[in-house]
Amino acid sequence: MTLVTWILGSIAGLVLAWFAVATLRHNLRIRRLAHAVAALPAAEYDALLARIDDFSPHVSTACLLIDTNRSGALIDTLNATSRIGGVPYVEDRDVDTVLSQGTRFLLQIRIPEQMGRSPWKGNLLVLFATRARVHCFRYHDPDDRKLSLRAKSLAQGEARPLRAVRIPRAPYGEKRHRNLFAPALLLREIPGLRDSVAALTSEPEAFLAMALAPTAWSTNFEMFERIQVGGSPQWVQTPETPHCRICARSMTFIAQVGCSASRALSSYNIGDVVYIFGCSQHLDEITCHLQFT
Ligand SMILES: [Zn+2]
Repeated sequence: MTLVTWILGSIAGLVLAWFAVATLRHNLRIRRLAHAVAALPAAEYDALLARIDDFSPHVSTACLLIDTNRSGALIDTLNATSRIGGVPYVEDRDVDTVLSQGTRFLLQIRIPEQMGRSPWKGNLLVLFATRARVHCFRYHDPDDRKLSLRAKSLAQGEARPLRAVRIPRAPYGEKRHRNLFAPALLLREIPGLRDSVAALTSEPEAFLAMALAPTAWSTNFEMFERIQVGGSPQWVQTPETPHCRICARSMTFIAQVGCSASRALSSYNIGDVVYIFGCSQHLDEITCHLQFT
């Protein structure tokens, strides 16, 4: 009996030790890659993202909003209007509603003008969380002057500006196209991208994943670690497309907001990926659906 206990104990110890070593190696690798991305000079990082953004803008139907984790240099006024935290854009008519609900500002997203097919292009979506759900305010024509004033106040605040990068599409099979979210596909399809990333690192794919999701804690470029606008929803659990309260049609996917951006939700325990849907016939009907990872 003692011997059996001893053997079982030894096996458990070995498994734990192996797990600890594997985890440590993984964490060190992620940390090393994250440091390498953070050490990229702003101009080089910008050029890398621009190379993806410029590849095939005429066919882009989706973009990533990247939390670059850097201060001002790369951020223009339009991009700074998309951000996590800081001071939310709210028009006077909505202030009372927001304050009365004891809400917490999560993030705001300006749907890029280049997202040609989206009925919400140019709109500003502002997300607030309560203990029960996430609310979305839509501003179809936000006051640019007010936006730029807010953008100036970003420098010292806790706000993290988001940079929009359009994701190219490429032929897939006979007549279909698909969005090239995966770093491996981007490296394969965009001429010269692999060479320029390989000049920076010995692990181009993992490095690119970290460059596109600098706050992620893996190199898998998981959907739930990113902010995606357009394309198709990447459900963590069973698909749950909502219907419009007015016309009962299936709603259109607008965006999804993952862990690093939605961390503020954790204390509410209501979910950690936010899916934003809207009715293409009733543009003010916008629903935020949550799922747990
Ligand atoms: Zn509708």
